[in-house]
Amino acid sequence: MRFDLITIFPEFFVGPLGHGIVRRAKEAGIAEINVQDLREFTRDRHRTVDDRPFGGGEGMVLKPEPLFEAVEKLLGHAVGDATNRVAPQPGTAIILMSAAGRLFTQETARRYAKFNRLILICGRYEGVDERIAEHLATEEVSVGDYVLSGGELPAAIVVDAVTRLLPGALGNEASTQNESFSEQQDGERSVAKQTVRESGGLLLDYPQYTRPAEYRGWSVPEILIGGNHAEVAKWRRLKALEKTRRNRPDLLVENG
Ligand code: SAH
Repeated sequence: MRFDLITIFPEFFVGPLGHGIVRRAKEAGIAEINVQDLREFTRDRHRTVDDRPFGGGEGMVLKPEPLFEAVEKLLGHAVGDATNRVAPQPGTAIILMSAAGRLFTQETARRYAKFNRLILICGRYEGVDERIAEHLATEEVSVGDYVLSGGELPAAIVVDAVTRLLPGALGNEASTQNESFSEQQDGERSVAKQTVRESGGLLLDYPQYTRPAEYRGWSVPEILIGGNHAEVAKWRRLKALEKTRRNRPDLLVENG
């Protein structure tokens, strides 16, 4: 998988994408991450990437020309114009980070993990000229129902969520199959999931514990220490369901 991040703050990603699973995926050649400075595609002395909004209003808007040209350089071909639009290769997605986009979910991450190239466009200021969403990007995604000051954190979220799904990125292949929002049917969590499936929906992860078995008077549930796998599975099913009901009832489709 190759990721291209288009940004006016190229140094931003050093921290967020320099640790843990993402760092190891880069080192192992599973993910290649290229950060593209948008200002390289400006032509004026001030390297201007933004301008005032037509129709008035607050703030500034990212101009279309540097963004189109940056994407064209990355793709290695022109994307055309209003009379002749050239789509990217199948396997490549051009993703605009936008609070007004479609919600990015685990399902989106799984879909993206099947591409071989993701080009992520990070907005700033009041946003991005709409011609990017309409005629350049193939996707417009939001990482949640809140407004951030730029698309860099959202893009790092997408890179992280997608990278850990790439084959070989996690030490233990099973570990992405038994997590919150996963749909896999085998293993202990899927026992939990089947209960929910009877009524439909997804399940969050079950509670996890590690040593010490007793801490400040709070002890680990007895059943987990007992070693009865069937009982443990049943307990996890129940707890995952309780937690989903409490924290994310919207994931369940219970009672219609
Ligand atoms: N005026 C816009 C917000 C602009 S915030 C609005 O009301 O929707 C500046 C940039 O931050 C956006 O262009 C986008 O790239 C990014 N951004 C902010 N919130 C985001 C979110 N929830 N998901 C993805 N990108 C977001």
